[in-house]
Amino acid sequence: MRDDPLYLEPRLDPRTAALLDSAPLLHTLVDALGSPLNVLLPDRTADNVRRFRAVLDHHRLAGRIFFAHKANRSSSLVRRLTTTDADIDVASLDELRHALGSGFTGSRIMATGPKDPAFLWLAVRGGACLNADGPAELERAAALVRAHGLPRVRVLLRLSGFETSGTRRLMRESRFGTPVKSLHRLLDVLARHRDELEPIGVGYHLDTTSLDEKAAALEGCLRAMEELRVHGFRPRVIDVGGGFGVNYLAYAAQWERWTTELTAAVMGSRPPLTRGGHGYGLRVENGTLKGGLSLYPAHRPTAGAAYLDELLSLPAPSLGRPLGTLLLESLYDLYVEPGRALADQSGLTLGRVLEVRPTDSGESTVRLAMNAGDVGLEDHGVLMDPVVLPRDPAPPGAQGPVGQVGPVGQVGPVGQVGPVGQVGPVAVHLMGNLCLEADLITRRTVFLPRPPRPGDLLAFANTAGYCMDFGATHAQQQPLARKVAVHEEAGRWRWCLDEEYWPFDRTGEPQG
Ligand SMILES: *Cc1c(COP(=O)(O)O)cnc(C)c1O
Repeated sequence: MRDDPLYLEPRLDPRTAALLDSAPLLHTLVDALGSPLNVLLPDRTADNVRRFRAVLDHHRLAGRIFFAHKANRSSSLVRRLTTTDADIDVASLDELRHALGSGFTGSRIMATGPKDPAFLWLAVRGGACLNADGPAELERAAALVRAHGLPRVRVLLRLSGFETSGTRRLMRESRFGTPVKSLHRLLDVLARHRDELEPIGVGYHLDTTSLDEKAAALEGCLRAMEELRVHGFRPRVIDVGGGFGVNYLAYAAQWERWTTELTAAVMGSRPPLTRGGHGYGLRVENGTLKGGLSLYPAHRPTAGAAYLDELLSLPAPSLGRPLGTLLLESLYDLYVEPGRALADQSGLTLGRVLEVRPTDSGESTVRLAMNAGDVGLEDHGVLMDPVVLPRDPAPPGAQGPVGQVGPVGQVGPVGQVGPVGQVGPVAVHLMGNLCLEADLITRRTVFLPRPPRPGDLLAFANTAGYCMDFGATHAQQQPLARKVAVHEEAGRWRWCLDEEYWPFDRTGEPQG
């Protein structure tokens, strides 16, 4: 017996919830295709695009929504997006090939990040827009255009190191982009290559949740646009990058309680909540709490398209008027590059329970047919409980009034996974299938409303953004997860292998 379970229940949109209610289908898929298995919901990604477009419309801004491909490798999401008004942001040669092969034309592709020669060549040759990291890249692109007689290439200048007006220095350093104070170096290159390079605007991408930093960067971009005009260019686009975020958890109170209890555990005033007392960035020195929580803020009241809305509604730090209004009055187009936010609720990862082993501590270890690379939640600092999908919906002992399995979220004393028939909340540690101490699916104790049994599935919801295939490897020759795409049709789930998915049905009618 221990304290009340500290659940971190996932936020589930109706589509994901309906899919999780179809446990027999999910079991059949894993039986056929193996564990782990990734299930994609491309229609949800299309819905997310509409939400971003609605925010642009609300601010009366024209613009483009680029899916940051690096968040997910699946073909179904990319192919589905070709039928929406989204564009795509690619950061490697193979992402570019994938986008082209999925049906995106060069005019809808932006190439970002560091570019090796082949990536730069295919991007320029294919008519993609270059999100340029620095002067050297502009020189290389101009040389390609000239040498091969190609059309002028559209370029966006990626800037970094924005100054803020206050005394507090808000900006963190970035490896990428050109510091705004070196903008003149970019302008020099552009001035020498007016026939090869068409500067359409400037932008940034900041990997932060801070609205203040983003507002300062956006204002910095407005100033940089003036600079380009003064030099005789006619820029028309500001690109605010990605980083709009996702709200992973259903309940703010669970997140607050969990982080409070973690702090207490690190301070030693309650039993550990993690293996080996891991503090997720927190530690104690001479009786005082040090460090900072190195976790994704799993419950976010404002995320995704709503976060963009908030940014555009903020007053510019020194110009004072709302950023959206300033963009509108300048007639600038707004580009956004959401990765995680467009993949929100667009997929889940299934792993089969192989073994449940009680331990002396009272917490059981649950070994799964998947490893830490297959579900990157822990690696990306996203703490969220999996959903147990029993193999047998009514195991022996779960029937009758005594053995009733409580509803999800039921709070009661936590027991050990014990004899057959034991029901109710349990505390477990989730282990992977590698012969490696570090292969932990979670470092924390996970509380589940019912004990998992071998053969059950654990469903990790909302993994499509970075937590599905970003870090998946062939370590120890364990199988890589297969992917299936599912969609609802006339009240039924239809599925196909991810690589077999195209965004039209067999009669040739577009879906959705
Ligand atoms: C990763 C990345 C994004 C997407 O970031 P999210 O946090 O997933 O929205 C957008 N633009 C660039 C340049 C990136 O590197």
